[in-house]
Amino acid sequence: KIYAYSIRKDEEPYLKEWAAAHPEVDVDYTSDLLTPETAKQAAGADGVVVYQQLDYTPETLRVLADEGITKVSLRNVGVDNIDMATAKKLGFEITNVPVYSPNAIAEHAAIQTARILRQTKALDRKIASGDLRWAPTIGREVRDQTVGVIGTGHIGQVYMQIMEGFGAKVIAYDVFHDPKLEAAGYYVDSLDDIYAQSDVVSLHVPALKNTIKMINDSTLAKMKDDAVLVNVSRGALVDTDAVVRALDSGKLFGFVMDTYEDEVGVFNVDWRGKDFPDARLKDLIDRPNVLVTPHTAFYTTHAVRNMVVKAFDNNLALVNGEAPATPVKVEP
Ligand code: NAD
Repeated sequence: KIYAYSIRKDEEPYLKEWAAAHPEVDVDYTSDLLTPETAKQAAGADGVVVYQQLDYTPETLRVLADEGITKVSLRNVGVDNIDMATAKKLGFEITNVPVYSPNAIAEHAAIQTARILRQTKALDRKIASGDLRWAPTIGREVRDQTVGVIGTGHIGQVYMQIMEGFGAKVIAYDVFHDPKLEAAGYYVDSLDDIYAQSDVVSLHVPALKNTIKMINDSTLAKMKDDAVLVNVSRGALVDTDAVVRALDSGKLFGFVMDTYEDEVGVFNVDWRGKDFPDARLKDLIDRPNVLVTPHTAFYTTHAVRNMVVKAFDNNLALVNGEAPATPVKVEP
């Protein structure tokens, strides 16, 4: 038996599809988050499948373990909200889904890049107000841009392909050089080369000690005038106050943000009829040359299906004592 927590309406069809394909497995689920209080609901299950931002606390893990459940499969990538010390002590086996659809995120980044260049937000607003004049909302063609990609992993590489499809010149920087991209001559030597040569700078690196706030006053100053900054990666990569200054001064032509430094508790919430909690974010949302999305780059039917199906596949492997496709190291 596999019990799934925090199942959303949009995940239900894929869960049911998986259950129908595995009649030997008793699948049950809830929309509840996994907490010390709800952990008992899984009683009798061999494993649990879950996805939440809420912490998996020592107490939550203990209640699960008391029910004899130590096989946990996440439907997402991040494991930083799991108390690994307790998980290790109690013998938990954990899996995640590190790759569910790089295309979903890359495609979103590409669409938003093209929208910024063609000033579609400003144009839509003008048209809605009844102003159907052309000027001054003139577009820049993607094929005339040099696009600098920082991070050539799963997502960065797909973004590169899409931007090349539009005809852009693509250059890239990564601490690890993919041999195929290396042979094709994409890599420049340094981040400074990216900043100096790119009309569009797009971030596709994880938030690590040496990437946090990599976009700041000093790196923005190194960029071309009228550059476009794209961040669909992690809010922490960007000093948002510095970006606001660069937008105010006209240094940046536009900013694409799908992730935000202070997004936890703000994104994926209905703020209608309530006081909006973040004045800086409100200001960014109001700007015609800033495209804000609430961490929805990943949110496609393709990606959600993969997150559900791959997590259940992993959990079944754990329950059957087989090697799961994507185990997580349970290390404090
Ligand atoms: P990946 O691991 O495949 O690629 C990351 C790349 O960054 C690697 O090639 C790595 O060598 C490179 N890198 C690491 N440190 C670097 C540094 N200091 N300088 C230059 N390059 C460095 O990851 P991915 O699947 O392509 O994901 C990239 C980012 O996208 C992640 O940060 C992830 O959090 C984010 N993401 C966002 C969404 C969304 O919905 N907005 C969804 C999934 C992932």
